[in-house]
Amino acid sequence: MSAASMTTPAATTTTLAPTSARLGAMLTDLRMPTIKRLAGSLCAQSDMEGWPAHRLLEALLEHEINERESRRLDRHRAEANLSPDKRLSSFDFSAVPSVSKAQVMALAEGTQWLERGANVLLFGPPGVGKSHLVSALGHALIDAGRRVLFTRCSDLVQRLQAARRDLRLPQELAKLDRFDLLILDDLSYVRRDQSETSVLFELISERYERKSLAITANTPFSQWGEVFVEPAMTLAAVDRLVHHSTILEMNVESYRRRAAQQGIAPASRKARSTS
Ligand code: ADP
Ligand code: MG
Repeated sequence: MSAASMTTPAATTTTLAPTSARLGAMLTDLRMPTIKRLAGSLCAQSDMEGWPAHRLLEALLEHEINERESRRLDRHRAEANLSPDKRLSSFDFSAVPSVSKAQVMALAEGTQWLERGANVLLFGPPGVGKSHLVSALGHALIDAGRRVLFTRCSDLVQRLQAARRDLRLPQELAKLDRFDLLILDDLSYVRRDQSETSVLFELISERYERKSLAITANTPFSQWGEVFVEPAMTLAAVDRLVHHSTILEMNVESYRRRAAQQGIAPASRKARSTS
């Protein structure tokens, strides 16, 4: 059993030794807020129960490490920009028979593909769950300790264009490097504009074989000419994206539409039976 789990600071009625001002100041200097908060109660418990010194030290450090880890995950969740409710647990795989649940779970649980900068591409018409599924994957990877950013593709392209205008595109691309997975939602909605598409191409080239991308699109590759304008650029972008990738085809009827129809069906049956 770990030291921290053995020694959850008890809400005792004993008077606790207040952390000395000097100790408090040193812990602030060392940026150890958890130890600072718990030192009083854990030292008192240790004195009372006659712990060996190493046990107290281990307990204090373990609490600090655990809270640090949990704050780090909280920061990653906050920066990721994911919808909180779009998770694997709320995704109904039976609605999309063409997508293998096992394959998605393998991506969610094994993060080796991120080391290789492999990509995930999700295709399908509106409403079939592309954004939901890719967000769910993002949540799972954050839980596994990875950093993820979800953004609408057109928003990111705008941001990169502004950076290019200010001659800081390389710095802006470098900032995105801290994310193991960058989710570009709705590639097909990028406006048809040459300068926009070339920043997107630069992003794809920059991350190639280093950092992963997950892209959702309403249109198959054959129509990406609309997004990249120049055929050579389209070809080069698709080539890089596909080279190490998992492609999830979601060609089913809109989940939204089906849900709406199912919601209406019982009411209309009832209406008929009472008329
Ligand atoms: P798309 O990005 O393909 O347009 P969304 O992911 O936005 O579709 O899905 C539309 C709505 O339907 C969302 O509210 C989403 O949570 C829900 N949805 C879609 N597919 C599923 C599914 N298989 N299981 C649960 N909810 C789903
Ligand atoms: Mg979507």
